[in-house]
Amino acid sequence: MTDVKRTASGALLLDGNVLRDRIVADVARDVADLSSIPCLATVLIGDDGPSQVYVRNKHRQAQLAGMTSRNETLPASATQQDAEQLLGNLASDPSVSGILVQQPVPAHLDGEKLLALIPVDKDVDGLTTASMGRLMRGIDSLVPCTPLGVLRLLQHYGATTAGKRAVVVGRSHLVGLPLSVLLSRKGIDATVTLAHSRTTDLVQVCREADILISATGQAHSIGRDHVKPGAWVIDVGISRGETGIVGDVDFDAVQSVAGAITPMPGGTGPMTVACLIENTLSAWRRQH
Ligand code: NDP
Repeated sequence: MTDVKRTASGALLLDGNVLRDRIVADVARDVADLSSIPCLATVLIGDDGPSQVYVRNKHRQAQLAGMTSRNETLPASATQQDAEQLLGNLASDPSVSGILVQQPVPAHLDGEKLLALIPVDKDVDGLTTASMGRLMRGIDSLVPCTPLGVLRLLQHYGATTAGKRAVVVGRSHLVGLPLSVLLSRKGIDATVTLAHSRTTDLVQVCREADILISATGQAHSIGRDHVKPGAWVIDVGISRGETGIVGDVDFDAVQSVAGAITPMPGGTGPMTVACLIENTLSAWRRQH
């Protein structure tokens, strides 16, 4: 690891932008040797502003990786049938390597039914029940991008996970739950606590963590008191306030006690996209 940066207080800065650029460059080298070009298809339903930004960013990184990408959009008024027809077409199209349905979908649609139409080998977001089931069983699968990105950050920057206490705050299917499974896998070997809104004495639970990961979307809810001196602190949460994007972690307060910390933005967000690009290459390989 050559890209060591530190915060003003000396904590290791877990820079996701730098690692994303490396991962995407590595994928681009691999893509150049393939017999055909992988294609990432995104499906965006409705006009949610942040989702549009996320999808644009995914296409940009796919391009940088030498892939093609398809940006499929449907209006917020789209019916379940419209969405299912689009997904069915992408599922059966051999030129499409990976399919991602940008979350959340409008409330009137049955998101589970839409996900179920994505073949497991094209499930680059790793969110279908088949992919999740494989993850639970430890069977090779495409792993959800945000949890995988957190793991890659920890590994790249040299965190020791084996035998360490990891606390994940937030238990969603998108982030917290699969991350807790990944961290407790054989080979990673952390001892994991999965905390949530009904956890009592969250501060004390968090203070036991050698690795503390917050994915709640509660702005600056993780402060200095939550952090054991020297702990690795990973911020997944994103809240939009009047001052712009804010993470779950109060960076200024926590960096003086943490051993390592993600910036926000520039930590887990870019890693999510990097892992999506890697997953698209893996999906191509599964189909060839
Ligand atoms: P969800 O709303 O689905 O889940 C939030 C989780 O946080 C729930 O398990 C909830 O508990 C828990 N929670 C809420 N408030 C508290 C609290 N005060 N104390 C402890 N736990 C709490 O969100 P997602 O998992 O989809 O996303 C989480 C955050 O991560 C969001 O801000 C989202 O924008 C961000 N995100 C960031 C990504 C990135 O790349 N950096 C990618 C994806 C998401 P309970 O289950 O009890 O309700």
